Amino acid sequence: MDESLESVYDEILRRNPGETEFHQAAYELLDSLRPVVSRHPEYTEAAVIRRLCEPERQIIFRVPWVDDSGAVQINRGFRVEFNSALGPYKGGLRFHPSVYLGIVKFLGFEQIFKNSLTGLPIGGGKGGSDFDPKGRSEGEIMRFCQAFMTELYRHIGEYTDVPAGDIGVGRREIGYLFGQYKRITNRYESGVLTGKGLTWGGAQVRTEATGYGTVFFANEVLKTRGTSFDGKTVVISGSGNVAIYAAEKVAELGGRVVACSDSGGFVVDEDGIDVALLKEVKEVRRERISAYADERGGRSRYVAGESVWTVPCDIALPCATQNEVDGDLAATLVRNGCVVVAEGANMPCTPDAVRVLTEAGVSFAPGKAANAGGVATSALEMQQNASRDSWSFAHTEERLAEIMVGIHDRCLETADSYGIPGSYVAGANIAGFIQVADAMLALGVI
Ligand code: NDP
Repeated sequence: MDESLESVYDEILRRNPGETEFHQAAYELLDSLRPVVSRHPEYTEAAVIRRLCEPERQIIFRVPWVDDSGAVQINRGFRVEFNSALGPYKGGLRFHPSVYLGIVKFLGFEQIFKNSLTGLPIGGGKGGSDFDPKGRSEGEIMRFCQAFMTELYRHIGEYTDVPAGDIGVGRREIGYLFGQYKRITNRYESGVLTGKGLTWGGAQVRTEATGYGTVFFANEVLKTRGTSFDGKTVVISGSGNVAIYAAEKVAELGGRVVACSDSGGFVVDEDGIDVALLKEVKEVRRERISAYADERGGRSRYVAGESVWTVPCDIALPCATQNEVDGDLAATLVRNGCVVVAEGANMPCTPDAVRVLTEAGVSFAPGKAANAGGVATSALEMQQNASRDSWSFAHTEERLAEIMVGIHDRCLETADSYGIPGSYVAGANIAGFIQVADAMLALGVI
């Protein structure tokens, strides 16, 4: 790494002790910026990179709520408003017991560049809580969401900061959060949250957008290799929002998804995952993935406690969580003949995994480019809210597909113009960065 970038990284380590996921995300970006700082000394002169690595605002708050037994529970809430050079802060809320400041910061940091890549006017932020929704009743989920919004509402707004869902936060939770925001503010401010239901300000395709978008991106990658999803074997990790709709789109494009997972294990279905059944088990009944294999009888088997990445495939779509594919699992993918890895999740591949895949000639699409379809469609939802309009499914999906093709091409063109042909990582980082950096230069030292 260049000396000036090295010193930025040292400062990040010093100011954010113990926040390993944030360190990892920052290192990955800085590592791509060497050719940029030599071509653009003005960024270093105005300390743009150092400013970018420090969030504009970090909010940590207490979330007290009462469980079904009448006991008071206390969780911790977070919102990191990282960068608003391009528009209001935008990024999801994650409810998972692993959430702490380092995870929220890594996600918020990635979000800045992902949002920039969409070409839409949105800044970067992220939030969440260490609340664990697993095993909680409907009433508990609602009371938690209301308690969370009772503090968060003062920091957000359609021109300020617009949260959405992420792990553990889907349409149900967005409904409770929006209801509480509306009650406290006495305003029907649709544009304050995205991922809403279709009858109360939501947009078509938002639910499907991250999964579909990842597959649209992977499809472009396959085209560069002269091939397509048709007849290919695909493995997807996770079985949540992103995984389900990635599986749906892969099947539509002629691919066969043979395995998916949750944090307990994975299911294999050689006939191809039955997406309607998967939705029924996960979205309606909210059961574990093992219930899918039970329902399919002898046609599917459940493997507890092992990684889904041991299942052979041509294309891998990690759609669960950060650092789920390490160097060894990446080597297993390569050995099994995998040729494309596109990240539906945020940072699911460790730096070691990315190195192993890249050295083996696997096309690797990083999350900040490949999974940008979710936030892009959130921005389309904001656009519809602002104009009191609602678009058809077909029109919205077409816009999403165009945006994903645009991001794909921009990554490759940028990588080419900086002398790193074919690198989606370099292309995404540099293209995402330059747009934000130029806006920051124009806005002065603020
Ligand atoms: P969901 O909560 O809907 O699903 C998450 C899935 O991943 C579940 O199957 C879950 O299994 C699994 N998972 C979560 N944590 C772990 C873990 N520590 N180890 C193993 N499996 C785990 O979340 P989403 O589908 O919305 O999000 C998945 C990923 O996609 C995240 O990285 C998120 O940041 C990213 N993303 C999501 C977007 C969106 O629009 N929703 C947009 C862009 C990126 P279990 O139920 O057992 O926990």
